[in-house]
Amino acid sequence: MSTEQYGANPDRTAAGSVAEATAGEAGTVPAAAGTAAGVAGTAAGSVRGVGVSPGLAAGPVARLAAPAGEPAIARLAPDADLDAEAARVAGAAERVAGDLTAAAATVDGERRELLETTAQMAADPTLVRAAQQKVREHHLVPARAAWEAAGEVADQLRALGGYMAERARDVHDVRDRLIAVLTGAPMPGVPRRTDPFVLVAHDLAPADTALLDPTQVRGIVTAEGGPTSHTAILARALGIPAVVGAGDLAALTEGRQVLVDGGAGTVTLDPDDATVRRAAERAARVRTFDGAGRTADGHRVALLANVGDQAGAAAAAAAGAEGVGLFRTEFCFLDHTQEPSVEEQVAAYRPVLAAFPGRKVVVRTLDAGADKPLPFVTATEEANPALGVRGLRTARRAPEVLDHQLEAIAQAAGAEDAEVWVMAPMVATVAETEEFVAACSRRGLGMAGVMVEVPSAALLAGPILARAQFASIGTNDLTQYAMAADRLLGSLADLSDSWQPAVLRLIEATCRGGAQQARPVGVCGEAAADPALAVVLVGLGVSSLSMTPRALADVAAVLAATDLERCRELARVAVDAESAQDARDAVRAGLPVLAELGL
Ligand code: PEP
Ligand code: MG
Repeated sequence: MSTEQYGANPDRTAAGSVAEATAGEAGTVPAAAGTAAGVAGTAAGSVRGVGVSPGLAAGPVARLAAPAGEPAIARLAPDADLDAEAARVAGAAERVAGDLTAAAATVDGERRELLETTAQMAADPTLVRAAQQKVREHHLVPARAAWEAAGEVADQLRALGGYMAERARDVHDVRDRLIAVLTGAPMPGVPRRTDPFVLVAHDLAPADTALLDPTQVRGIVTAEGGPTSHTAILARALGIPAVVGAGDLAALTEGRQVLVDGGAGTVTLDPDDATVRRAAERAARVRTFDGAGRTADGHRVALLANVGDQAGAAAAAAAGAEGVGLFRTEFCFLDHTQEPSVEEQVAAYRPVLAAFPGRKVVVRTLDAGADKPLPFVTATEEANPALGVRGLRTARRAPEVLDHQLEAIAQAAGAEDAEVWVMAPMVATVAETEEFVAACSRRGLGMAGVMVEVPSAALLAGPILARAQFASIGTNDLTQYAMAADRLLGSLADLSDSWQPAVLRLIEATCRGGAQQARPVGVCGEAAADPALAVVLVGLGVSSLSMTPRALADVAAVLAATDLERCRELARVAVDAESAQDARDAVRAGLPVLAELGL
């Protein structure tokens, strides 16, 4: 979590801008987006960022309180009652533990576990005793004592490594809460309220986002973050409209009414009642997916789901996904220090295949490395892990791990009725393709393909697809590598945008290679979940789109309202644009259905 104060961030991203006009003036939403959204024209002003989770949401702003930060080294007065000051630390810990336990009781699943773990940490006497000792022996004020004691406890946990090291984050969370109680500062983290609100934050930590309750948090606006940031991915998975990379958030003051348009990337300030009503009506329309993606003129586009485990596969099947376009197998083994046995892998893969009998399931071999290290195949000492031995490249170091995985996939495929396709992440060359296809073939896996995530693979799509049966474009990494912008870095949100015309040209090149070899090209990166971008992808020649199950109905609805020729026209417009914003605005302006659907 960032400790920077809201609105104090002077270096706005290029994508972010704030424009507040005087009351009664027309809104500052660009004409294209304003027309497309159809709801922003009457507002007094707006904030612009990158729309990453489509939908409209209105409500009062609730700001995520940043931790108060490190208290100054201050000592108690010589005549202070040291026992009473020490007791304040224990009282604060009791209150923090109590609040967290009460909050845990209101939620379930993973969210409950997270809150209960932090509550236990607050109730653990180790931290309190260490802080009290500092009050009594060093006469530190309680807040400073809690800060220093937490630092020591966190260091001890880190030294133990593994699971215990991860608990250091909980100690910091408890520390920040103790300091809030002891100093009277606002409690850090997502506010808990009875009424729904629009959450406004400089940035969200993964745990903050995981804890969001979609019935409470109507919309999200962050200063930082890009389309592939964890905030964006989780907001889409939860179905919460979100605008990230908005830069200066000073206009979004606590309690101010706003309307978030997570498709257009705008936040309208003080929207009038009629605007809010129209937005609510549109947002309330429940769309379902009938299980067959197609354009208005009947051109088939398979709409598939991205999953990481059995529960994800069940949710995808329930949402009507036509199959699985990306099974991220590494998610099954992120906590493993040793290579999982073939039997263990078969047991992890079979339930995912079982959720889609007779349907396509594209299993991706382990994409270990960078932000998803797996200790049994990845090196930790690389200076640039995103450019290092990750994805298929780990087979250079540990070819047997890939071979065991292919054996497990083949066994799981043999035991279930799904139509199993296999693909490798991070393929860069024709030779890598040949080797992977041959390895699959030795295990009897005939449908072997590659992910196009590295620009070289996009440019070599013709010869690569002469060897591979199919390609699936990972737009998250393709954008990262084409734009040389770390996908996790919020400050480069404007570059980490799959609407960048250079990225679209690489997708076009991949589709050209697919057409030459008559091989299917799909997209399984986050771009597929953006209904407007999905239209562009289909126009470029993509034949399947794989996304978080929540996005299926929206993407299906927009495709169903757009014929193939229009998809092609809009793809041309996007590819010929000179900036990501121009491409997005022009395509959105050409798709009035987005406004009709509140996307
Ligand atoms: C991608 O890079 O677009 C992709 C789908 O893979 P991941 O997000 O798992 O890296
Ligand atoms: Mg990737």
